[in-house]
Amino acid sequence: MPAVFYGHGSPMNALGGPHMSAWRDLGRTLPRPRAILMISAHWETLGGTAVTAMPRPRTIHDFRGFPQALFEMQYAAPGSPALAARVGELIPGVQLDQGWGLDHGTWCVLAHSYPEADVPVVQLSLDRALDAQGHYDLARRLAPLREEGVLIAGSGDIVHNLRAMRRDGSNTPYDWAQRFDAAVKAALADGDHERLVGLADPDGLGGEDARLAADEHFLPLLYVAAQQRPGEPVAFFNESIELGSVSMTGVVVGAAA
Ligand code: ZN
Repeated sequence: MPAVFYGHGSPMNALGGPHMSAWRDLGRTLPRPRAILMISAHWETLGGTAVTAMPRPRTIHDFRGFPQALFEMQYAAPGSPALAARVGELIPGVQLDQGWGLDHGTWCVLAHSYPEADVPVVQLSLDRALDAQGHYDLARRLAPLREEGVLIAGSGDIVHNLRAMRRDGSNTPYDWAQRFDAAVKAALADGDHERLVGLADPDGLGGEDARLAADEHFLPLLYVAAQQRPGEPVAFFNESIELGSVSMTGVVVGAAA
């Protein structure tokens, strides 16, 4: 299976918009997965990594101030206790979670890629105690899942700064947003994961651009990049920056976008 990173942007994208056609096409063109393991920027945990293990995950509406239609959306994909258990084999000590479900980072994109909600979905949390290298190293342990028909997917944003977001109707990207998005894409295209991990560090390679651009929304990308084998191609989709400071850039590892 390929691996996919979605730049999800605003929850409003669940209802439609210019990026949904690329999300829809992915569901039509990628090999059909047996299950999806989703790493969403919207599930961070303390005290370790968790994986959803319930057979029927609920749809979580983890946002405020959006239209009622968004709160009414349901994404009724089944879970997969079997996949959760398999993740537990690959990442010893992972907590089997019964309380979370599918947050909007997951369903706002999967509702377009897999609108029938007929592929089982399991979420993996982001352990707050890990740094970028720690997330990358953990993600490498998931690699066997690709051979087992599991789509490893991340949902976040390479550039995500809501404070800097333009609210005057202008979409012009900030220079730092454009630079960071481009630097990350270049590292991925080169298959240079050391550089990619370094770019997440504002006190290291990432510098001031990373301080402005990269928050927890960057981290799911590391889980997808970690699946890239030496020489394996990457492809990009939805390469745009919205509202000045939110990158919609998506990445496919191991297949055409
Ligand atoms: Zn988000």
